[in-house]
Amino acid sequence: MERLDAFMARANAAYYANHDPFADFTTSPEICQAFGEVLGLWAAVCWQAMGAPEPVLLAEAGPGRGTLMADALRATSRAAPTFASALRLHLIETSPRLRAEQARRLPGATWHESLETLPVGPLLLLANEFLDALPVRQFVRRPEGWRERFVAEGAFAEQTAPAPDLDAPDGAVVEVCEPARAFAARLAARLAGSGGAALLIDYGPASRAPGDSLQALRGRKPADPLVAPGEADLTAHVDFAAVAEAARAQGAAVCGPLPQGVFLARLGLARRVERLAQARPPAEGQALLASARRLMEPHAMGGLFKVLGLCHPSLSPLPGFAA
Ligand code: SAH
Repeated sequence: MERLDAFMARANAAYYANHDPFADFTTSPEICQAFGEVLGLWAAVCWQAMGAPEPVLLAEAGPGRGTLMADALRATSRAAPTFASALRLHLIETSPRLRAEQARRLPGATWHESLETLPVGPLLLLANEFLDALPVRQFVRRPEGWRERFVAEGAFAEQTAPAPDLDAPDGAVVEVCEPARAFAARLAARLAGSGGAALLIDYGPASRAPGDSLQALRGRKPADPLVAPGEADLTAHVDFAAVAEAARAQGAAVCGPLPQGVFLARLGLARRVERLAQARPPAEGQALLASARRLMEPHAMGGLFKVLGLCHPSLSPLPGFAA
């Protein structure tokens, strides 16, 4: 018997080490090149607001194939060359397989297991679909009190748990992602201490805590998360309210969360994609416009995904967050 978070950590470590995750799911940077481009330009604007420190760390947590960062760097080297030459690229990635893929696209980067080993100094950090991969605990309300979920032989088992401080109806499930809160707290302490800003982009509700949101994708189809650990991608919705609270407690300013579509519109993604589309053959241009709509429309990723900004209080509100 294994506690759910230990099970999820083990399953995902095996999954990311041995599989091509992008055979099972796709992400915004893989759908549309303008996603990484506008985030790169966002970082350049923040850097100016920080007083253009040199060097500055540009970091990404969970870079996947390295697509977002490659798009970001291409855009900044054209539109913000002083930022491009001031930045030092640092990637937080645990999967050796994905590190190798990132190294092909992002030569000159330095890799880290966690935030802990990033050098000191002003920081700009991007993370897309990183927090959702971190392991969650689940508590279930039973008539006799709270129980915690464990995994035994492909099914849930429950054990008496220290009571979460919550009033909930019988059968209610409460999910807690301790590593996401810890990541937000450490990141926030750094930003408040040595300056900088971060964007955390993921799917999840803007304010209420998620209930049971654990899910598995295998071959682009939903699968049973408890069966065949390491063969499917396990994720849970991000509890943005908890992440924001952890960051505020360390002295960082919190911006948002905003729906991804609103944020990308304010960053000018639609205009950028229209320009790109005009320069392409008609069929390619249409495909590009459709990919941008998928990222931005409220009933698609534009509404499901949220963008949370964390920063040194002097930088608040960050670009894209002021109404
Ligand atoms: N950001 C990418 C990939 C998302 S998949 C994109 O948008 O396409 C999740 C990424 O987080 C993968 O690169 C995975 O290897 C990495 N990851 C998962 N758990 C991690 C952990 N605990 N520490 C560091 N990286 C992790």
